Amino acid sequence: MRQPFFLIMEDIRNISIEQLEDFLVSIGEKKFRAKQIWSWLWQKGVGSFYEMTNISAALRQQLAASFTFHRTIIAQEANSKDKTAKFAFRLHDGKLVEGVLIPSGERVTACISSQVGCPLGCTFCATGTMGFIRNMHYSEIVDEYVLMDRRARELYGNGISNIVFMGMGEPLLNFNNVMTAIDKLTAKDGWGLSPTRITLSTAGIVKGIKALADRNFPCGLAVSLHSADPAVRQVIMPVTDHNSLHDLQAALVYYHQKTGERITFEYLLLSKVNDTRQAAEKLARYCRPFPVKINIIEYNETKDGLYHRSYPNQREEFIDYLKSCNMVVNVRQSRGQDIAAACGQLVKQG
Ligand code: SAH
Ligand code: SF4
Repeated sequence: MRQPFFLIMEDIRNISIEQLEDFLVSIGEKKFRAKQIWSWLWQKGVGSFYEMTNISAALRQQLAASFTFHRTIIAQEANSKDKTAKFAFRLHDGKLVEGVLIPSGERVTACISSQVGCPLGCTFCATGTMGFIRNMHYSEIVDEYVLMDRRARELYGNGISNIVFMGMGEPLLNFNNVMTAIDKLTAKDGWGLSPTRITLSTAGIVKGIKALADRNFPCGLAVSLHSADPAVRQVIMPVTDHNSLHDLQAALVYYHQKTGERITFEYLLLSKVNDTRQAAEKLARYCRPFPVKINIIEYNETKDGLYHRSYPNQREEFIDYLKSCNMVVNVRQSRGQDIAAACGQLVKQG
């Protein structure tokens, strides 16, 4: 049974197209108007009813009187000398989240947030120190894309080509909203982005990874591993308490079997914590059950100074060992450090 929508002032982007049709019919409007309104919401990405120019002023007024429109705006922008741009988005309730644009040749990658804060408290991550404030609604996640895509065209002459869920928050702990946002971004009657250009990064939520495998998740998946030693990982990533390395490995075997995809691990090198020869051996052993790609990330200093970046020679030895085991290893360049836009530096109070 369809839910009644007109009893409370519902956000227009929180209802289905069928509910919108019902509403229009109930006020004596033609049902097909729903498609027009839908296209303004989920294809053109307007921020208010008043921008829906093929809708009569009377109907726009009626919509505004019947629904709310949770609007997201860019509250702040910082531009790095390497052309990376960081944005603070103000959500309808005043909360702030961050997103980053990273241009590279023709390509523009948008790093977007999925939660306000993060409940997982990784000890090396600035977002982790904020604690968890709330999940983002799918329309807010889509807004990050829409607003940054417009700015990307102005700044670089190209729109966003790739999206990574590597901003604030743990996407697999906001599963339904993240999946709906991805559906909207990839829908043919939405923004039509290719799912292969979207990557979700997770700290290793076992249940979520299995759910992605069962859905035949069409996007890329990256797992922030950072240590294959249970004792070390438990200290730097408390998520390990309920998502042990053993269970994570089993979930990734399942994911690989179901999707045929190679597993991408993110590995942040922290001096003397996870960059030793022994740590590299553990990592190589952990990766045996599936084909992998390891992305080595350099640590970006956060304010607390708990950790330090690995020394270059230690980093080289670590990488050489993995390569000697025939593993695919990439070193990810960190961008936007001068504006604190790099991985793990995103933190906002609001
Ligand atoms: N919660 C998800 C996605 C957001 S974090 C996850 O953890 O995967 C995005 C990436 O930034 C993760 O790989 C995370 O481990 C990394 N990161 C966090 N803090 C960092 C720091 N200080 N320096 C470099 N990378 C960091
Ligand atoms: Fe959350 Fe990811 Fe930061 Fe860990 S690294 S605290 S999971 S955002």
